[in-house]
Amino acid sequence: MTEYIYQPGTALGEAERKAEHEQRMIELQTSADERQIEREQAARFHSVTVTTQLDDEGTLDECRRVDQVKFTCTAPAEAECRTYPDSCGCESFAWNEARTHDIEGHPRTIGNECWMQGWFDNEGAVYVGDGVDDMRDDYVPAVNRTGLVVISPIEEWIEWDWFTPSVAGSKS
Ligand SMILES: [Zn+2]
Ligand SMILES: [Zn+2]
Repeated sequence: MTEYIYQPGTALGEAERKAEHEQRMIELQTSADERQIEREQAARFHSVTVTTQLDDEGTLDECRRVDQVKFTCTAPAEAECRTYPDSCGCESFAWNEARTHDIEGHPRTIGNECWMQGWFDNEGAVYVGDGVDDMRDDYVPAVNRTGLVVISPIEEWIEWDWFTPSVAGSKS
């Protein structure tokens, strides 16, 4: 009678590891797809209007520059982007299990100003789409445009790009 002893590195171990790895890849893809869907859902409510102005028109110095970058959130009061512990002062927060308070005990409130608004109002939003103008702090090119946007929070600022719909999971 032989006893089976599990040895890492045996054929069985390899197969298991491979299966585990594949499972992990599927999970990663699924969460990437979920994030993409989340971003696309949020994008329905978030738009930017860039207006420009022509300086020194008709002269050799003529140049177009960005006049205003205006962010608008049209999400309903209970939307994720307008739900956070109101003026709690915490640098970041995590909800308690019941999602009624943050873990510091500050009550969750809906109907706040969209959290992204402040970043645009305080020059904390950086454009990362096509045609960036790196002479500007916010990289926004001087092109009149309005449209939906996707936002990615980075640690000390947020990045935004024009929204291009894609079907999650069928990316090439
Ligand atoms: Zn708090
Ligand atoms: Zn919003």
